[in-house]
Amino acid sequence: MEYVERGGARIPALGLGTWQNTGDACVEAVETALNLGYRHVDTARAYDNEREVGRGVARADVHRDDVFLTTKVWRSDLAADDVRPAVEDSLDALGTDYVDLLLAHWPHPRVPAEETLTAMAELRDDGLVEHVGVSNYTATQLRDAQRAVDVPLVCDQVLYHPYKDQTAVRAACDDLDAALTAYSPLARGSVLDDDLLADVGRRYDKSAAQVALRWLTRQDGVVAVPKATSREHVEANLEALDFELTDEEAARIDDHTGGLGVRLRNRLPALMRRFPL
Ligand code: NAP
Repeated sequence: MEYVERGGARIPALGLGTWQNTGDACVEAVETALNLGYRHVDTARAYDNEREVGRGVARADVHRDDVFLTTKVWRSDLAADDVRPAVEDSLDALGTDYVDLLLAHWPHPRVPAEETLTAMAELRDDGLVEHVGVSNYTATQLRDAQRAVDVPLVCDQVLYHPYKDQTAVRAACDDLDAALTAYSPLARGSVLDDDLLADVGRRYDKSAAQVALRWLTRQDGVVAVPKATSREHVEANLEALDFELTDEEAARIDDHTGGLGVRLRNRLPALMRRFPL
């Protein structure tokens, strides 16, 4: 496993996403991932699967302390008095005494980040949480939040994949010694039939999904948490770490970033094959 070290945290560079994975499938995906070599699992109170994630961690042949477990405080629980009970519920569901990383899931229009993060820092002082961070914060929101609290914000978890430009958040993370955790790193499946990514991967016998994950994790300070349910996908995503892209290949993928127009243009050949005129 590769690691990203930021803000005093050592975060495995590839984690298992679990949004929309529930029930036995979730337990199995977490157990399988950890047994295959993952050491990082991403959940949230809002995913309604913390119990299953906890069961998967407990069933795996890996010690709890060797797993980097992240959960998040939902929007409804960001006020100072609501943070602790919400996290206690999360810990109870996860069946653990602590999480490695606690994130404020979204910025709130009325609850100042300082209020939430101060409450989260108290949980860190009490040992319920190893590290704290944020999610879905813009670069400005991240910089303002870090100015407002003493505790290091070790990451901003944001949408990041080959069609999404996150230059500003990356720069803020670098300045603040925080990691950028890429969520929906496969663009929720949109990268799968991307011709450029597939073309780059051919030389290494890697899929477009694996190339997207390698492109992300080769960037300094970037962690990716792809969601995968089947053993095949869980394993394939881990195997994204066992090859390297050249700078030139990475630069070709950098040029992808540019929104819907670029995304459609790059998927056009695959779409034409699927829906011939
Ligand atoms: P994603 O990881 O970009 O894509 C998941 C989709 O790709 C699933 O349909 C999955 O199928 C498929 N897939 C995974 N590996 C594959 C492979 N090797 N080959 C082909 N298909 C593959 O989307 P996401 O779930 O939105 O994002 C990942 C994680 O980020 C979430 O699960 C969650 O933990 C986190 N997240 C956080 C936030 C936030 O606000 N902080 C928001 C969204 C997501 P199967 O499931 O069938 O394997």
